[in-house]
Formats: sequence, C-alpha cells, structure tokens
Amino acid sequence: MAQENVNVVARIRPLSNETSDETCIEIDPVSSTITLTTNGKEFNMDKVFEQNAPQEEIFGYVQPIIAAVKNGLHGTIFAYGQTGSGKTHTMIGNDENLGIIPRAIEMIFNALNEESKNRNDNFNFNISCTALQIYCEKTYDLLNGNEKIEIPISDIFKNAKEVEVNSSNECMKIIKCGLEQRKVSGTSMNETSSRSHAILTLTLKTEYFKGNEKHERISRLNMVDLAGSEKRKHTNNSKTQNLESANINKSLLTLGKVIREIINPVKNQVIPYRDSKLTMILRDSLGGNSKTTVIVNIHSNSKYFTETSSTLDFAVNVK
Ligand code: ADP
Ligand code: MG
Repeated sequence: MAQENVNVVARIRPLSNETSDETCIEIDPVSSTITLTTNGKEFNMDKVFEQNAPQEEIFGYVQPIIAAVKNGLHGTIFAYGQTGSGKTHTMIGNDENLGIIPRAIEMIFNALNEESKNRNDNFNFNISCTALQIYCEKTYDLLNGNEKIEIPISDIFKNAKEVEVNSSNECMKIIKCGLEQRKVSGTSMNETSSRSHAILTLTLKTEYFKGNEKHERISRLNMVDLAGSEKRKHTNNSKTQNLESANINKSLLTLGKVIREIINPVKNQVIPYRDSKLTMILRDSLGGNSKTTVIVNIHSNSKYFTETSSTLDFAVNVK
C-alpha cells in the first residue's frame, strides 16, 4: 500500500491561562518536526497544526479523504491523545467552531446533491450512519435508544442500528443524540466517555445507469474519537480501573500495530486486525486503497510531559 494513504499529523491545543503554563515542546513548522525541550528528542510528522490553527485548517487537511469517500473509497479519521488534549474539539467542535464531523457531513451532502443535479444517468445516492462505542473491549450501539446491551462483535454489522439520513442537519442531530448516549451511562459504565472509543460511520451508497446496466458503489467514512491515551494513576487500584487501562492500552497498541503493518507490510505476516474490537470493526476501511489520517492531539503543558512524550512516540511508531 502506498504510504500516502496513511498520514499522521499533530495538533497542539492552546495552553490554558494558568500562570504555570509552560510548554514542553518546540515546533518547526517547515519540517513538521516537534522537539521535546526537556530531552531534545525530535519527532517528525506529516504536518503539525500549531495552537492557533483554526478548525478550517484541520478540515482542509482531511478534505481529500472526504472527497475520496464521495468517489467510492473508504476513509478513516482518528483523534488520538490524552483526555483534555482536544480530540472531541477536533472531531465535533462546537457551534462557533465546527469540527471535522459536521463539516465532513455537510461536504458529502453538498457534493452528492450537486452531482445528482449535474448528471443525467439516473444517479442516486443514499447515506446512513451508525454510532458505536467500545468500552473494555465490549461494543455498544449508541443509536438504539437507552439500551446498554453489548452487541457481540460477530453480529455488529447485522445488529447495529443504521439510520438513513436525508440531510446534514438530520445526520448531525442523530450523531449528537448518540454521543449524548455516551455520557449517560449505566452503572458499569461510569465516566466512560474518556475511556471508550466512539466510532461514527457514514455509509454512502451510490448508483447510476450505463444504458440498462446498473452500477452500484458503497463507501464508508469512519470518524473515531479514541479513548484517552493517558496512563491511569493506580492510586485507587480497583479491578475495574485495571481492566479499563489494560483494554485501552491493548486497543490503542493494536491500532498502532495494524497501521504500521499496513504501511510497512511484512511478508507472510497477517495484519493483527483480530487483536482488538476497534480494528475488527474498522478492518474493511483500513488498508488497501483506503485513506487514513491519525490526528494526535497534544496538550503541551510541561506537567503533561510524560503523556506528550508517549503520544509522540505513538505517532512516529505508526509511520
Ligand atoms: P478530549 O476530547 O481530548 O478529552 P476536548 O476536546 O474535550 O479534549 O478538549 C478539552 C478542552 O480544551 C475543551 O474545553 C476544548 O474546548 C478545549 N480545546 C481543545 N482543543 C482546543 C483548540 N484547538 N482550541 C480551543 N480550545 C480547545
Ligand atoms: Mg473527548
């Protein structure tokens, strides 16, 4: 697979206005290199977005993925980083600063509406969405009302609720509803939002006719807000916490391994998709002609040096 199908970029969030705010990184925007000031270690990215980079700029970078999905390829965008580093801001944003998801949805609807206006071969399209959550290697459907029922992975594509959407507004409403669901969690799922992965998937089906011959195409855009990558403090060394940490580490590690092996295939080696739920679900959308961007989000306050260092390690190890 061509390397240009996978990109790893860093986004630095603004420091808060605490007096103790001191950064632990230096950025060279020309070479897209981040240096840890404490130890001089350098990390080369495909692109670095500095703290004042507006949402439009990040979206501009991933726009080719959305265009590719519109044209029939699969695409996946990940937000990686410790809790508070800006993953949700990057993916969802807010009303004043829309993130990738609302912009992507709008772009896809506009592009497909435009296309169906301009073509004269009975071009038709249909868009649907699913929203899944993975917590402790168990998969839940965020669109099926109040149920907190685990869906076995073997049934995920059959049983997850897939909602057909007719406009970007309708689609955003459903997604927001699903993400609300992520917060109001049952007893066993307290505070899950920072400890779980949320996978939003848009499925596009298009068809057109060449004479009497019908041509159909299905493509997917996955937008993934990953679980916080921070190491858990083991002060309250409960069983649940340990289980959580182990599972989060396992799925993020597997994700890293899978992407690395897609970029640098090792002969006779099977890509370890089956090692985590996340990679099992995304399997068809990772590799091949699919396009992937991993955005590693960084909170550069020097008190987060350890987390920043480990996030940067993840980023460069993937490539
Ligand atoms: P995460 O989802 O990784 O836990 P959030 O996206 O919730 O982090 O970000 C934590 C806080 O920082 C939020 O209040 C968010 O609005 C703010 N924030 C994060 N990134 C940025 C940014 N690039 N510009 C402005 N505010 C940001
Ligand atoms: Mg978040």
